[in-house]
Amino acid sequence: MSPPPSDARPPLTVLIAAPRGFCAGVDRAIKIVELAIEQNGAPVYVRHEIVHNKFVVDRLAGMGAVFVDELDDVPDGRPVVFSAHGVPKSVPAAAEQRGLAYLDATCPLVSKVHRQAQRLIETGRQILFIGHAGHPEVIGTFGQVPVGSMTLIQSVEDVAELTVADDENLSFLTQTTLSVDDTAAIVAALMARFPTIKAPRGEDICYATSNRQAAVKEIAPRCERMLVIGAPNSSNSLRLAEVAQRLGTPSRLVQRASEIDWDWFGTPATIGLTAGASAPELLVREVIAALAERFTVTEHELAHVPEGQVFKLPRELVG
Ligand code: SF4
Repeated sequence: MSPPPSDARPPLTVLIAAPRGFCAGVDRAIKIVELAIEQNGAPVYVRHEIVHNKFVVDRLAGMGAVFVDELDDVPDGRPVVFSAHGVPKSVPAAAEQRGLAYLDATCPLVSKVHRQAQRLIETGRQILFIGHAGHPEVIGTFGQVPVGSMTLIQSVEDVAELTVADDENLSFLTQTTLSVDDTAAIVAALMARFPTIKAPRGEDICYATSNRQAAVKEIAPRCERMLVIGAPNSSNSLRLAEVAQRLGTPSRLVQRASEIDWDWFGTPATIGLTAGASAPELLVREVIAALAERFTVTEHELAHVPEGQVFKLPRELVG
């Protein structure tokens, strides 16, 4: 169906969440792959999606990155980059054994959780880890400690069903990209059941995840629909759609403008728009352009304090 002529397009106010999109960890991971290609020539191998965004992955593939599932798929003599979500210890160990040059694009905030896990295990504590089964970050963090020394908690119900060896020797840690509200409920349940449980030093849910959820909370009550640009396997993007949905705003995750379901979208007066931490701003503009083909769009971006977080690149790349 062709778009209506411009004078017949209904008005639509688009409230654009801020902050949104790329975080410092994603930005760093992408730069690591770009610089690795620049300095080593193509191909540079990347174990798993460097970040959970197809657009980003396709662009890097076009520059000479080859995405593989396992280290065994990397030929001898070529460099390999580990994704922003982190990897089990066994992965760099296997790369070293094969003499592969590797670059670790693990977000420094994920590495911080890895270090906390290792320290807790060294002091003999049992760790309860709040996270989502199967997420690469969870697999990476579990891979820092001996099998059986950390237990995954996914819900308040899990807390009730838990059996532990020693109530007095527990600590908890969390994945960086969780729902702030769900995690608070799980932590409250843990504290209620195990009053002496040790909390992490500082917050494990990262600044980018918390800030993007707070921005959605601010605009969602004023919106009839919420569009979240992000991949279906992106934990922080899924959480953004969930936050809006819980506030009563029907929400959809879309990877690109072409995925907008216009029947579901309808003819709202005001919508919200945001992007997960691995979605580039270019896709936000693409969605607004698609909206402008059907509506007379007025954009309002939320006022916010810039995040200003920057992570250093690995020494191997910057000399
Ligand atoms: Fe790092 Fe948070 Fe970005 Fe994940 S979402 S890469 S933990 S800053």
